[in-house]
Amino acid sequence: MKIGCHLSSAGGYLAMGQTATSIGANVFQFFTRNPRGGAAKPIDRADARAFLAYAAEHGIGPILAHAPYTLNAAGAEARVREFAEETMADDLERLELTPGALYNFHPGSHVGQGAEKGIELIASMLARILSKKTFATTVLLETMSGKGSEVGRTFEEIRAIIDAAEGMCGGNRLGVCLDTCHVWDGGYDIADGLDGVLKSFDAAIGLDRLKAIHLNDSMNPLAAHKDRHAQIGKGKIGLEALARVVNHPALRDLPFYLETPCDLDGYRREIALMKGLRRD
Ligand code: FE
Ligand code: FE
Ligand code: ZN
Repeated sequence: MKIGCHLSSAGGYLAMGQTATSIGANVFQFFTRNPRGGAAKPIDRADARAFLAYAAEHGIGPILAHAPYTLNAAGAEARVREFAEETMADDLERLELTPGALYNFHPGSHVGQGAEKGIELIASMLARILSKKTFATTVLLETMSGKGSEVGRTFEEIRAIIDAAEGMCGGNRLGVCLDTCHVWDGGYDIADGLDGVLKSFDAAIGLDRLKAIHLNDSMNPLAAHKDRHAQIGKGKIGLEALARVVNHPALRDLPFYLETPCDLDGYRREIALMKGLRRD
């Protein structure tokens, strides 16, 4: 089972790898830079090399790099969109040091321009970045809860972005990260109808595009359009439903990343909990 959690990147790659091992994780997620924006730290090539050796030895990966929340490819202002494009291109360039990583981003918020315009802006940014070169990292669109003017609440919107982007840059380049809290808050009942939700996902996007799961409980009821993560088993989705998620034949081989409100000890407990609920 591939399971881990979000970790602080303050100490670098090797430190994250060692922390992961110490809490029973074999995957982890981290922010590529300050989640509220700003410049990334200079690249430490020696640290990346040391991490790759450690990861191979300890069976860690894939690692999941999360773009900053401020990245909005669907922004109304040109400088907001330029920041998004420069940040993603720079993040992917930096991730060349750790081949095989996944890169997750929030598709964006259309801020009143309409979902259709948002989809077009997000897709064209992706196409410009991905047509320049083939990166060693797979870019994933995260499923969103639909708070505010977020694009990517429905599987159809995600599919529209993928289709439009790949229509311009070609290839089978993009994947999806399904966040259990977000789809629940977005109105997909994964507690009472996981099979049906995955059928909808498969029909709209294709399960072959699904590359990672953000495993979170939710503080809010189904379709609340909120996005407040809860600890595993302490929210409205509940432990039994999340156990079905990690055991589902279509999902069980994917990497699971916890993004619950936990300290390291809490994550250690949640990882052990989910491993204990895993069936052979
Ligand atoms: Fe996210
Ligand atoms: Fe998430
Ligand atoms: Zn969230």
